[in-house]
Amino acid sequence: MAVVEENFKSISPAEFFYKNKEIAGFSNPARALYQTVRELVENSLDATENHGILPTIKVSIRELEVVPEGAYYEVVVEDNGIGIPPKYVPQAFAQLLFSSKYVLRQSRGMFGLGAKMAVLYAQITTGQPAEVIVSPIRSKHVYSFKLKIDIKENKPVVLGFTTTSNILGGHGTIVKLVTIGDWTRSRQRIYEYLKRTAVVAPYAEIVFRDPEGNYLLFERSIEKLPPPAREALPHPHGIDLETMRSILKSISDKPVVEGLVESFQGVGRTTALRILEEARIGVEKRAGELSEPEIETLVRVMKNYRDIKPPRADHLSYLGKEIIVAGLKKIFEPEFATAISRKPSVYEGQAFIVEVGVAYGGKVPVAEKPLILRYANKIPLLYDEGSDVVYKVLDEKKGIDFKVYEVEFPAPLVILTHICSTKIPYRGVGKEAVADVPEIESEIESALREVLRELRSYVLQKRRELEEIEKAVAIAKYIPEVAESLSRMYRVNPQEISVKLLDLLNSRMKSFKIGSLSSIVM
Ligand code: ADP
Ligand code: MG
Repeated sequence: MAVVEENFKSISPAEFFYKNKEIAGFSNPARALYQTVRELVENSLDATENHGILPTIKVSIRELEVVPEGAYYEVVVEDNGIGIPPKYVPQAFAQLLFSSKYVLRQSRGMFGLGAKMAVLYAQITTGQPAEVIVSPIRSKHVYSFKLKIDIKENKPVVLGFTTTSNILGGHGTIVKLVTIGDWTRSRQRIYEYLKRTAVVAPYAEIVFRDPEGNYLLFERSIEKLPPPAREALPHPHGIDLETMRSILKSISDKPVVEGLVESFQGVGRTTALRILEEARIGVEKRAGELSEPEIETLVRVMKNYRDIKPPRADHLSYLGKEIIVAGLKKIFEPEFATAISRKPSVYEGQAFIVEVGVAYGGKVPVAEKPLILRYANKIPLLYDEGSDVVYKVLDEKKGIDFKVYEVEFPAPLVILTHICSTKIPYRGVGKEAVADVPEIESEIESALREVLRELRSYVLQKRRELEEIEKAVAIAKYIPEVAESLSRMYRVNPQEISVKLLDLLNSRMKSFKIGSLSSIVM
């Protein structure tokens, strides 16, 4: 009998994601339209605020033609970011897994997929190429590209290229796609996404024109940007074999001691020497000469080396109290808002920062549960909430008991959680939910309890004030009667006595003064 031979072959990343669009969030026309807007807006925000530019972003969706699956839409996203050097544009938009963000520095993008998935989806649903117009910062030219993806080869195909002079002198990027979408079924998500983005980016101006011709404008309400994230070196505790091999390769001609010092954070010469001694590696060796067993030992020693500073967090860009409170106030107009940023913590050798904000009362809608706004690296997470670590902390049975914090539902409460890290443990590349890593869970809980304690003080204070007012009003009601009796006894004008008594009452009250007696007595 002949041996049965299977048909083996390998496929390109483009073909893989073409066949598995849903894992990147492009599962159907409604979801794809939302994901397209999201990916392009996130790239625009990365290209501005990470470079010290206050973002101005214009988003437009226009319906072109109705088809059975939905409709053809033209999606345009324009920003005032740093732009992209023209030589990288084709790959940045038409070669999957090509990115400028594969470095240790917090950004919204991290997989090198988003823009390409949007281009890919547009291409396979409408056959239209992507149009990308860039004017890089300080460039005298504007470059326009028409691009498609060669899916089999995962390579860009440039269908058109023109250069014009940059008359207006601005900088930024415009991306235009024609894609099949379903506005009716994605309207709410897209609006929600933009609103939630505006909450954590009150420093951005975002304009949206929807297919029905409505305009939505989120004005800039604060001129302050979050601290920029700096590129960091890896920390020894976060190292693995593969990373170590590639680091050693990049410094192969150098003595290994020197290589360790310049490739890792927190490793000075003394530490490097101690690490090498513990790993029994000769100091004189060059990085490229290490044997496989030596590399394995080196990784083990470094991962477990205790006498070293924890990972630095300056590659993270957290929002901070001022921006979170400004965002919550701008969107929800609450009576009370506060936020805290926790100190950096570590999981798997990587630093992360958790921030939590609350908004209470005012125009916050009263509901049976708090409205939870989840963010990771400033990205709003809208789907898959049930599987997110935040929901574990808020679990009704085992989680936070809001009564302890003087909040009884139904109540007007918004809770915002933000996790910053270069290694967010997303549950999928669509970036919708964060896995429950115990270290992250515990930081969220501590942060939440801290802001809820502040809320509790506020609620109690307000209650005291209300009680004081009620008491004072009750007393004030008797003033005219008392004044009347006193005036008869002492033959004084009752009006004068009333005013004196009211002054006396007011002087005892801390937070509130009674205006005129007539308003209370009548
Ligand atoms: P990622 O954002 O994960 O890096 P993308 O496919 O979304 O992956 O984008 C690829 C690259 O293209 C980015 O890393 C960035 O360098 C560049 N890029 C995309 N959009 C813009 C933009 N609006 N402005 C500047 N650069 C951009
Ligand atoms: Mg991206």
